[in-house]
Amino acid sequence: MKKRPASLLILFGATGDLANRKLYPSLYRLYTKGKITENFAVIGVARRELTDEQYQLNIKQSIVSEINNVKDCDINSFVTHFKYHSHDVSDSASYAELKKLAEQMDQTFELEGNRLFYLAMAPEFFGIITQFLKSEGLTDTAGYKRVIIEKPFGHNFETAKKLNDMIRSAFEEEEIYRIDHYLGKEMVQNIEVIRFSNALFEPLWNNRYISNIQITSSETLGVEERGRYYDKSGALRDMVQNHMLQMVALLAMEPPISLTTEEIRSEKVRVLRSLRKYTDKEIQQYFIRGQYDRDEENLLSAYRDEPMVEKDSNTGTYVAGKIMIDNFRWAGVPFYIRTGKRMSAKSTKIVVQFKDIPMNLYYQPKEVLNPNLLVIHIQPDEGITLHLNVKKSGQKEETKPIHLHFSNSNVNGINTPEAYEMLIYDVMRGDATNFTHWEEVALSWKFVDRISQIWENTREQDFPNYVSGSMGPKKADELLERDNHIWWPIEQFEIE
Ligand code: NAP
Repeated sequence: MKKRPASLLILFGATGDLANRKLYPSLYRLYTKGKITENFAVIGVARRELTDEQYQLNIKQSIVSEINNVKDCDINSFVTHFKYHSHDVSDSASYAELKKLAEQMDQTFELEGNRLFYLAMAPEFFGIITQFLKSEGLTDTAGYKRVIIEKPFGHNFETAKKLNDMIRSAFEEEEIYRIDHYLGKEMVQNIEVIRFSNALFEPLWNNRYISNIQITSSETLGVEERGRYYDKSGALRDMVQNHMLQMVALLAMEPPISLTTEEIRSEKVRVLRSLRKYTDKEIQQYFIRGQYDRDEENLLSAYRDEPMVEKDSNTGTYVAGKIMIDNFRWAGVPFYIRTGKRMSAKSTKIVVQFKDIPMNLYYQPKEVLNPNLLVIHIQPDEGITLHLNVKKSGQKEETKPIHLHFSNSNVNGINTPEAYEMLIYDVMRGDATNFTHWEEVALSWKFVDRISQIWENTREQDFPNYVSGSMGPKKADELLERDNHIWWPIEQFEIE
């Protein structure tokens, strides 16, 4: 039988929101599924004083509040693998004790010296932790060493590079796992499979047959308690630099010669290198920023009235843009992206619009030709829908649009696995395909930095410019209208 990965996970930020809501439940699921066996252990690290018993109780409570039907026997044996270490990450002295504890756990659970360091903490600590891990000897281990870094990875290219240089002084590139949550999603991973395993799509996947591609990631919530962080970041840095550009890369890349991490990443990098470098004028034309106002009933506050947000904030909570990829396959095909908060639906969807057939023989109501669309539903529903035209019953020359659906969750009969569960398991197995390489991070920042520099130097006079509960500012519609396109109403594109 293939050996399950043995590893010690040292979790920095063990009492935080991410650890409680996502990481403990994901580890527990991996444990109950037998993907991690008895040869695993976790050392939770944070400043507050906790005994091991209190820490284990917290873990149980987090799991029970996220997962139904937790069995006592499972959870009791699961938490015996956890120990707590009270530690301020800026204090070098505490790392010696952490090292001793790691060595003990290594022996007790037979972990072969394999170590994962998960930095579930504010990004300003990433550099200092990795440097101490090296200087205090924690990375000096007989097995593998890997570090998992949460987003955001820098604030722009310059800060990302500084951070990367610090991390690289302790870890090799192939030991660094930069999380992009979207890459853990089942249907994002499915983009490659849909493209490269269907004779129906791949031959058409180019500028001869595709008119445009639209990627929308909309949220209904506002900034909630994240005002302090968000006001310095905005939708462009928070969503476009990472998630949106990763989806563009997966949709546009050439078929890799094999499914290895290196081959897939190098194809994605080639796409990011082909993103058109716009002039300042083109950026102003092709990228639209928005900031939410109150809703129509006046129940929700405007962005500028949110806690810890500047009263005259120039930060965008919405971005729409037209991305052009200057290569042979995609010349002339716009990739439209839009993402924002307080929109009318919580949804991430990709719409691939195929070109119209050369001549329409059939009468269609409103004289509108219904183009073929392939909709990839990323979240909350997962699946694909193909929009086709068929004969309208009883009519000789009239057509009607129909939708063929595949629902991922329905087919599996259970909820799709939590993204974190897959990502943690990937790191344990050393599979970095669904994490971002430094080259991808660097190219995406360079692309986004050009836009943010212009936006930061020009105040948007229109802000706030979209009502909470709408699909964004009018200018975003005009962006597509200029090309004779429309945003497809993805809020109505649920899988029936
Ligand atoms: P959080 O709730 O504020 O937790 C921060 C953790 O860091 C706590 O355990 C805190 O515990 C510990 N900590 C703070 N200062 C410390 C220090 N000097 N030394 C040791 N421990 C220290 O933050 P979070 O929401 O979990 O987010 C963690 C990271 O994940 C961030 O980078 C965030 O951007 C990213 N992230 C979070 C989510 C999410 O769903 N929450 C989603 C995506 C990405 P003590 O106060 O006891 O020290």
